[in-house]
Order: sequence, then structure tokens, then C-alpha cells
Amino acid sequence: MKILQEILDEKLTLSFEVFPPKNDSTFEEVLQATEEIAALKPSFISVTYGAGGKGGRYTMEIARRLQNTDGVETLAHLTCVGAGREDVRAYLRAMKDAGIHNIMALRGDLPEGMTLETMTNSPYPHASDLIREIRASGDFCIGAACYPEVHPESAVQAEDLKWLKEKVEAGADFLTTQMFFDNNLLYNFLYKLRETGVTVPVVPGIMPITRANQVKRAQQLSGSFMPRRFTSLVDKFGYSPDAMKQAGILYACDQIIDLFANGIRHVHVYTMNKPDVAEAILNHLSGMLGRAF
Ligand code: FAD
Repeated sequence: MKILQEILDEKLTLSFEVFPPKNDSTFEEVLQATEEIAALKPSFISVTYGAGGKGGRYTMEIARRLQNTDGVETLAHLTCVGAGREDVRAYLRAMKDAGIHNIMALRGDLPEGMTLETMTNSPYPHASDLIREIRASGDFCIGAACYPEVHPESAVQAEDLKWLKEKVEAGADFLTTQMFFDNNLLYNFLYKLRETGVTVPVVPGIMPITRANQVKRAQQLSGSFMPRRFTSLVDKFGYSPDAMKQAGILYACDQIIDLFANGIRHVHVYTMNKPDVAEAILNHLSGMLGRAF
């Protein structure tokens, strides 16, 4: 099934994200965490691409198992930075053979030493180029990334929105946002995006921060604004793993409740291979999600 249908569903729903093994985890550990998250039956699970320099091998394998063994709809991420045309086409054929119908099409961060100038010699310098390739390769449901606080390479939001519109015109069926910690930034972004004429669904991405040392990393990755309400929570509870985990989960739940209350029906949660965090969020929101746990 295409996950666009899940996103457009009238019900309030959540999806979760997992990532392939990095240096501090084995494939078996990631599979175990993924299966536990799958057992919670989110509306879909996305599998990120490229972590640990192992390319797409693990992404494909985790997505294949989720889709075919665990019976959970899967969104497999794919990045195009530095990728050759034949490799991408072979990967897309393999995705089709593996029964994966949903792809999150991304450029990926520029590796050290690569510049935007050298990227122009690449067959896919931008995510929109990859989206066109995927659209031409089969009947995939395609997601693309968007940035309520503007992508760090864009000088101004108008420029970012122009290229975002191009991604939708190239064939993106829906957009998922970068993490944000202040919902007003999302609402302002949505007004501006809709003004450009883009009508595809936008899925807010929420990151539960459950450890104080995640804060710096999250900020480096996303450049997201952290409101005082959030940083004071980290100041107060960051010293205690239990207190910080609880506070971080409840902050994420509070954001999700506000999104639901303001008309958003589907939220993607960056659960980072943590089944306990995914389960706690489902438990806190079970009444709204119409699920008994
Ligand atoms: P693009 O859409 O190509 O945009 C990158 C920059 O170029 C933007 O500033 C944009 O405005 C500009 N731009 C776009 N098109 C053009 C054009 N035609 N001409 C000039 N400028 C243009 N990274 C991973 O490695 N693996 C993952 O699995 C992964 N998953 C992600 C999921 C989400 C929801 C998000 C938000 C990000 C994810 N990322 C992932 C990070 C992402 O790869 C980086 O943010 C990357 O820097 C940009 O990718 P993009 O697809 O948004 O690129």
C-alpha cells in the first residue's frame, strides 16, 4: 500500500523512524529494535539511508523485512549525493523486487570535500533530480524533505520554498519536515508554503529528546530553534536519565497534541531505534489515537 493513503486518513495517526546500524550498534540489535517498534503497529515506519557508510544495503534489508515479514508499511529513504545513474536505477529495481513502494527521496548532506560546484557534475545534484528519476522508474509513492526553519544552505526562505515547489512539481507526493521544537514555526511555514500553491500533505517530524547530550547533536544536525520552555527543561532535568527521558517524551507529546488540535492528522516521530520511547508516546496519546494499550 502507498503510505500517502495513511497520511491522508481521517484518523489521527503516528509513524516512527529507525536507522541502520552505526558504529555503536550491530545489525542484529537494530533488527531487534525495529521489530519491537513494528509490533506497536504504527501507520508506517521509515528507514533512514546512509548511516555508518554502509550505503543502502542495510536500509533495503530492514525495509524489506518490515514490509514483508513484520507486515508494517515501510518508507525507505534514499539519498542521491555522489550517486551514479546506474547505481540508483539498480537500487530502484531492487526496491521494486523487494516489494517496497514508498521512497523518501533526499539529496543527503554534502560529504566533506564536496561542494555545490562539484555537485553540478553529478547526475542528481538536487533531490528534485532524484525525484524525477524515481517517478520515471515506477509506481512509487514519493516523499521529500522540507525545512520549516529553512535549509542551512538557503540564504532566504523564499529561495528554499522555490526549490521545494520544484520537488513537488518533479513528483513528490508528500513532504516531511525537519525536526522543530516550536510549533509556531511549523504553522508559519505552512502559511507560506500554501501561498506558493503547493497543496501536497506536510507531515510534521517530531524528535523526542530523551538525553541531555542529544540536544547539541540535534541542534548541529537541524539548526532548530530551541525555545526557552524546552531548554529550561533540559537545564532542570538533564542531570537525571530517568527525569530527562520522561520530560523529553512529554514535551514531544505536548507538541503532537497541539499539532492534532490544530488540524494536523499525521505526525512522524523520530524514534531513533528506541521502542520504549515509541511505546510511551503511543500510551500517552492512546485516547486521541483511538487505540487501547
Ligand atoms: P534538496 O531538496 O536538494 O535541498 C538542499 C538545498 O539545496 C536546499 O537549500 C535547497 O533550497 C537547495 N536546492 C534544492 N534544489 C535546488 C536547485 N534545483 N537549485 C539550487 N538549489 C536547490 N539525510 C541522509 O543522509 N539520510 C536520510 O535518510 C535522511 N533523511 C531525512 C529525512 C528528513 C525528513 C529530513 C528533513 C532530512 C533528512 N536527511 C537525511 C537530511 C538531508 O539529506 C539533508 O538535510 C540535506 O542537506 C538536504 O537534503 P534535501 O533532500 O532536502 O535536498
